[in-house]
Amino acid sequence: MKRKLIEDSINYLKYVQKRKGLSISTDSLSEYDLEVPDGNTDIEELKVKIMIDNHATEYKEKIVSDNIVREAIPEKLLKEDWMDVRSISGLEVKINKCEKCSLGKTRKNFVYGTGNPNADVMVIGEAPGADEDEQGLPFVGRAGKLLTDILKAINFSREEIFICNILKCRPPENRNPNPEEILKCEPYLIKQIELIKPKLILCVGTFAGQTMLRVKEPLGKMRGKFYNIKFGNTEVKVMVTYHPAALLRNPNWKKPTWEDVQLFRSEYDKEKK
Ligand code: SF4
Repeated sequence: MKRKLIEDSINYLKYVQKRKGLSISTDSLSEYDLEVPDGNTDIEELKVKIMIDNHATEYKEKIVSDNIVREAIPEKLLKEDWMDVRSISGLEVKINKCEKCSLGKTRKNFVYGTGNPNADVMVIGEAPGADEDEQGLPFVGRAGKLLTDILKAINFSREEIFICNILKCRPPENRNPNPEEILKCEPYLIKQIELIKPKLILCVGTFAGQTMLRVKEPLGKMRGKFYNIKFGNTEVKVMVTYHPAALLRNPNWKKPTWEDVQLFRSEYDKEKK
């Protein structure tokens, strides 16, 4: 039965590759318990599914309603020297030459993140794009400007929060991060969260939301509410909303985004009281 499942999945991937000119490695399919995809399956959803399935086996986690408790850093990484760092700037120095995945060889610049090392709010996106890779800074270019404007509209400046991505290096052609890249890079993000200890995190975009929440829901189902996630000793309220680049493509998503960020601001104000 499992063999049939894998054969069907490989055939589907070949079909998608041919149709969309995309390439996905089928080497490790046997590791994933893929359902048999049908002709309507979206390639992006399938890639996310592979990533999440892979992820779930790597982290011990317990999901209870909207409260997600997770092991902060996989035990096997505990011996790496960056784990002992006690400051956000010290962590950057330790990891900015990283070549744990292939993106370390293709990036122009490592994009660590910027902002207040003691921020109450973090904004987390998926991965650097071309502008970010060029400048070594997160959320620059048109989407970055829109993010700045959205934050300003709810009375946050970029300087008072911390902005970063799940991946620190740009995937070529802005493709989605693959499971191996997430696996290697996400522990750095978790360490950043542990050091900064924010009260609230805003994840922007489907991929960032699904990765942080360990769910496979579309963005429309993830948005509009808070999830309590524990990263080691740090419990954080996490909200997911649309990526500013998506808003540039589809203005219909501006209204729900505006609703989300207003809710985000009012939760922040409650936390600060
Ligand atoms: S994406 Fe992350 S894991 Fe990969 S090389 Fe860059 S910093 Fe290292």
